[in-house]
Amino acid sequence: MAGEYRFLVDCGEGTQRQILRSGIGFKKLNRILITHGHLDHILGLAGLLSTFIRWESLDELEIYGSRWALDRVHELVFGIVLRGETPPVPIHLVDLKPGVFFECPDFTVSAVPVVHRGPGCLGYVFQEKPRRPFLVEKAEALGIPAGPERARIVRGEAITLADGRVIQPDEVLGPDLPGARLIITGDMGRTESVSEAAQGAHALVTEATYLDEEAELAAQFGHLTAGQAARLARDAGSKGLILTHISRRSRERDVLAEAQTYFPDAFVARDFDRFKVTKDRPLTRTAPERRDRRTAGQEAEPEPPLQADAAPGESIEG
Ligand SMILES: [Zn+2]
Ligand SMILES: [Zn+2]
Repeated sequence: MAGEYRFLVDCGEGTQRQILRSGIGFKKLNRILITHGHLDHILGLAGLLSTFIRWESLDELEIYGSRWALDRVHELVFGIVLRGETPPVPIHLVDLKPGVFFECPDFTVSAVPVVHRGPGCLGYVFQEKPRRPFLVEKAEALGIPAGPERARIVRGEAITLADGRVIQPDEVLGPDLPGARLIITGDMGRTESVSEAAQGAHALVTEATYLDEEAELAAQFGHLTAGQAARLARDAGSKGLILTHISRRSRERDVLAEAQTYFPDAFVARDFDRFKVTKDRPLTRTAPERRDRRTAGQEAEPEPPLQADAAPGESIEG
């Protein structure tokens, strides 16, 4: 969520159910960004689309991704879910190349190439636009009253004071400060292609399917170890790290311990976690309160057998 905008990055199996259980709802959730075409990242579109298009007053839905990912999404959505019927709202599949593809007054979203398995894997960079800080002391010294004049000058307009003096924005605005940056890589086997985007990122969300002791398997299947992910964050000077795509074979505390060896501010994400990314404060997990994994919202129903897991021999990634 960013301002009035919402994005869903990838849509694994069970996404619709988890959105319902989380209580965040589907409102305005009309942009879905797909990192790559593996089934564990797109299967959830079937359930999501077959219900929420009917329930919600979405005018249209945009699904972004590379050609390969979109071809598989097309088969799933138009072939299996809709079976040739016209969707109730227009569904646009937006073929992305690396670069900025979404812009609003406060931030941009761009795609960066990611090396995994399959052609055209993408990561996504959410970049808040730079802002010039309002220098309160200068404003006080110039006698600019608190109120709408200050808001106008922050927007870049010159203002005229009651005594007739004209104040230009440059007189009370400091130099541009870069905004917050969030990068979400999806599955990834090599880190070079995202190291620039991760430079100084306020949050890097990446995968840790394996541990360093399984580095050969990780390389073979185009995934990262927790250690590799953490070393990427460290070497790029990222400010926060969130690890996802944890294998069922790994224990969360082992993943976290390995990552924190290299990057102390690492988190391992679980379903229903919420994080806040800002330029001024460290990355924080705002919800929910931590509980033991066995009781972390999954106790009522066992997870279905298809997992976001790339263990050798499992076909879900194929
Ligand atoms: Zn994958
Ligand atoms: Zn995956």
